[in-house]
Amino acid sequence: MKRIVLWIGVGVTAAAVAVLVTLLLTTCLFNNHTFAPATCTEPETCSRCGETRGDPLGHDYVPATCTEPETCSRCGKTRGDPLGHDYLPATCTEPEVCARCGDRVGEPLGHLFSEATYQNGATCMRCGFVEGEPVAADCEGLALTYMEVGKPYPYTTASYEDYDVDVTGTVEILDHKVIAGDETFPAREGYEWHVVTVQLVFSGEDAQKNGMQSAMTYGDYYKTDAEIGTGTDENGLRPFVAEYYGMRVQCWQKTCPDEEGGWFGQELRYTWKEGVLVPCGYDGAMLIFYHFGLARDADRLFLPAGKVLNGDALVFRMR
Ligand SMILES: [Zn+2]
Ligand SMILES: [Zn+2]
Ligand SMILES: [Zn+2]
Ligand SMILES: [Zn+2]
Repeated sequence: MKRIVLWIGVGVTAAAVAVLVTLLLTTCLFNNHTFAPATCTEPETCSRCGETRGDPLGHDYVPATCTEPETCSRCGKTRGDPLGHDYLPATCTEPEVCARCGDRVGEPLGHLFSEATYQNGATCMRCGFVEGEPVAADCEGLALTYMEVGKPYPYTTASYEDYDVDVTGTVEILDHKVIAGDETFPAREGYEWHVVTVQLVFSGEDAQKNGMQSAMTYGDYYKTDAEIGTGTDENGLRPFVAEYYGMRVQCWQKTCPDEEGGWFGQELRYTWKEGVLVPCGYDGAMLIFYHFGLARDADRLFLPAGKVLNGDALVFRMR
């Protein structure tokens, strides 16, 4: 009998242990939860009883890009719209390019070249890119004598009495200045005056016997057939035309009456001022002294430069 009781006791204990183990394995007795990790939207949650712990993680949004909306790096959930590309306009050398991601669409526009001028090679009207060389100046290849300030140059021209007889003296540019204007040389918006003092000196027997006839005109270094007016206006201004950056630009010339002139002892001497009114920065105007005999059948002064620019001409470039 005792043995039977003992066996029952053992059996009851074993059953109790089995029940306890089963309960521990299948329920959350004594807080024995089995938590699944938290997600963006769910806190840690017990897979057996549904008990939760803590808070959801919340989404971890990566900023939107041109082509993707804000996107959670964990779960892939999106929010809003992609930003769309922010294209900068195409240029001559670049297509449209997204300022954010560098995406490129279409083709560069290509340059839009103007014709070359005397001042510039062919130039893109959009971006200013210059290609090639300026147009060659007409005077570039000519063997001319370019005068320097303060230096007398031998000058041969016709005598006063007989145009077939040559006389030789000197011509000198005493000074050259650039001014906006003064009482003699009226200022003009966007223009500057180049004013020079010129001196002609003839001495010796030839000059005393025959006198001399000087001849002077204006020309353009770039375009020797540039027009030069035959008359002067009420201010003594004579128009001529220069070509500046491909445009025909009106310019003017003014000769001031002799400051002094005539015979000084054995010397025939004239000193006077010449000015040109040209667009600011223009460097093409030239003062040209030539042999008076070149022009005997025509209006003798202010001949077109193209007709008088030969090896004998003395040129002062006003720049
Ligand atoms: Zn649980
Ligand atoms: Zn998420
Ligand atoms: Zn983009
Ligand atoms: Zn361009």
